[in-house]
Amino acid sequence: MKKLSLTLLTLLLVGGIAYAKPKKAQKLRVLLWSEQTEPRNIYPSGISGALAEALGKQKEFECKTAQLSDPEQGLSEAALRNTDVLIWFGHKKHSDVTDETVSRVVRHIRERGMGFIALHSAHFSKPLKAALKATGSWSSYVNFGKPEQMWVVAPNHPIAKGLKDFTIPQTEIYTEPFDVPQPEAVIFEGTWETGHRNREVMVWTLDKGRFVYVRPGHEEYPIFFMPQMQRLIANAALWAGKRTHAPAKLERREVGPKATASGPYRPPKT
Ligand code: ZN
Repeated sequence: MKKLSLTLLTLLLVGGIAYAKPKKAQKLRVLLWSEQTEPRNIYPSGISGALAEALGKQKEFECKTAQLSDPEQGLSEAALRNTDVLIWFGHKKHSDVTDETVSRVVRHIRERGMGFIALHSAHFSKPLKAALKATGSWSSYVNFGKPEQMWVVAPNHPIAKGLKDFTIPQTEIYTEPFDVPQPEAVIFEGTWETGHRNREVMVWTLDKGRFVYVRPGHEEYPIFFMPQMQRLIANAALWAGKRTHAPAKLERREVGPKATASGPYRPPKT
């Protein structure tokens, strides 16, 4: 009897091991949304398409794209339910996004814990304004095509992982103040030759959801094709999707020139 039960136990154990399939890591489901007004000579398939291709090459992500012209604006209840992180680019058609779409998106962020990443001109998008309960406005916007220096100021935040300070060769400048609630962390700051210094990548936790704003990315320059920006967005998606977590104590790195100009930038008249 004893021998039999031992044999049984062995069988059960071996069987158990054989049947316990190795747990396949669940991919992070990323939905990349755009209104699709990006210039086609820079972004043939939109900023959403460019980033979907970049992220899609990494095993952690399963990427889909959606756009304003899709049924239910590409953001149906079912589409959102199958999304872990929504990445949003909008510029000229913010007002075409319906209030129903916006309230669905905000509900999925706050109540279900969907991550959200707002890119560049999405500071004026309806989901950002509704989620952050703010106007999302900066004090000025000048598309001058000058370089911006990006500085890592929270080096131990997972969004900065593998990233060093870098230069974006041509950018549009926005200037502080940026009307949003105090972020829980600022990961990058940026400086220009004008003497302005801005918060460039910042994050909030909104009830169950994590929210990221990424300031650079004017659509007339190929900014989202830069490997550093693609890494930054991938890191942001992993954080917003709760695959990574910020340490309890964030380091602050003092780096780069201090601001010598504040408020709106007025370009010299030519
Ligand atoms: Zn822009």
